[in-house]
Amino acid sequence: MPPLLSVFNQNLVPMDSRRNFLQKITLGSGLASLAPTLLSATPAADARQKPARKLRVAIMGLGSYGNRVAKAMKDCKSAELVGIVTGSPEKIPVWQKEYGIPDKNVYNYETVGQMKNNPDIDVVYIITPNSLHHTHTLQVAAAGKHVICEKPMADTAANARKMMAACEKAGVKLLIGYRLHFEPYTRKVIGMIQAGEMGKLNYIDNYQGFKIGDPTQWRLKKSLAGGGALMDVGVYCLNAARYLANEEPIWVTAQETKTDPVKFAEVDETIQFQLGFPSGLVASCATTYNFNFERLYAHGTKGFAEMSPAYGYGPLKGRTHKGPLDEPIVTHQTVQMDGMADIILNNKTLNPPVDGQEGLNDMIVLDAIYKSIRDGGRKVILNE
Ligand code: NAD
Repeated sequence: MPPLLSVFNQNLVPMDSRRNFLQKITLGSGLASLAPTLLSATPAADARQKPARKLRVAIMGLGSYGNRVAKAMKDCKSAELVGIVTGSPEKIPVWQKEYGIPDKNVYNYETVGQMKNNPDIDVVYIITPNSLHHTHTLQVAAAGKHVICEKPMADTAANARKMMAACEKAGVKLLIGYRLHFEPYTRKVIGMIQAGEMGKLNYIDNYQGFKIGDPTQWRLKKSLAGGGALMDVGVYCLNAARYLANEEPIWVTAQETKTDPVKFAEVDETIQFQLGFPSGLVASCATTYNFNFERLYAHGTKGFAEMSPAYGYGPLKGRTHKGPLDEPIVTHQTVQMDGMADIILNNKTLNPPVDGQEGLNDMIVLDAIYKSIRDGGRKVILNE
């Protein structure tokens, strides 16, 4: 297996040195064919080895995924959980005991603004229902803290834009919880494609879904979820199609199927969507709340990559035309938070990015997918 450390060495590039670095590698003969996005200007800057100081994180929303992130952060080298924001008082002593969180770093949704006066928290990780991401990001930005926001970034592209504007105005960073951008199998496939090992990509086939349980949960309420399977897990397929393509789609078509109109009265159950890219590449994607499936297949003129599982918490598995993939098995949220610490504390960028623009680009296509469905599956042209 390749060393785990290479996950970070390959990917993080300081913002100020990026342009000079790209000029150098473009001029260099042997490296010109390698995609700049996967080359590092700073091999010494390894987030998991030499943190100058740790990123101090507060989690907002202590639900299922908030718990997963908190546990994973126990193994972080560059990030630590120091605070919580919760509307459930009974969770406070449990989390304080488990993570050693002091009283002064405990907030509820009404007191988030007071964080402005707390120098011991750098960033708030928003892990609340999708439609609340917008309001919560505005609150955190107003308190002068960096924001990490879970996917999907928002419920609409319009709200995603407001989130970006608020963070820019407040001078804080906005990152989206795209954990797979840090995941070694995913990075390996991206790297191979960008290095030209698959030739020219011409087709992506890509799906993820699961059978949803409890009919009373927020994921089935439009006011909290924004949408159904598409917003929740279809966004992984969309995001993967975009980062594998390494270009933005120019058209979208989509179709919806509902087998249970009562359970899925407010949100989508199953959606198939197709994306067309400027190079001629086409992606065919599907997502559902009605059954469990997940797979990613990318076909190029010189080879292919396949991952299944491709989107869950791992271990992920995959193969290419060169054979099985054999990458380090990591806890996704641990490497994500170490990577995000490096981005925030050391002003780095990651490619494919995990910034607000990346989240907005997904939201623009999600809006277009819903528009196509409303219009009976008609083609929606993007970037007009
Ligand atoms: P959850 O229901 O388990 O937790 C949601 C949390 O938000 C709870 O603590 C709840 O108390 C809190 N909350 C605050 N205001 C609320 C309100 N008005 N209504 C309902 N809950 C409210 O959900 P989850 O599975 O943890 O998902 C939370 C977010 O994390 C979602 O945006 C989801 O898409 C994202 N998520 C990401 C991943 C990933 O792999 N990146 C995985 C799961 C969930």
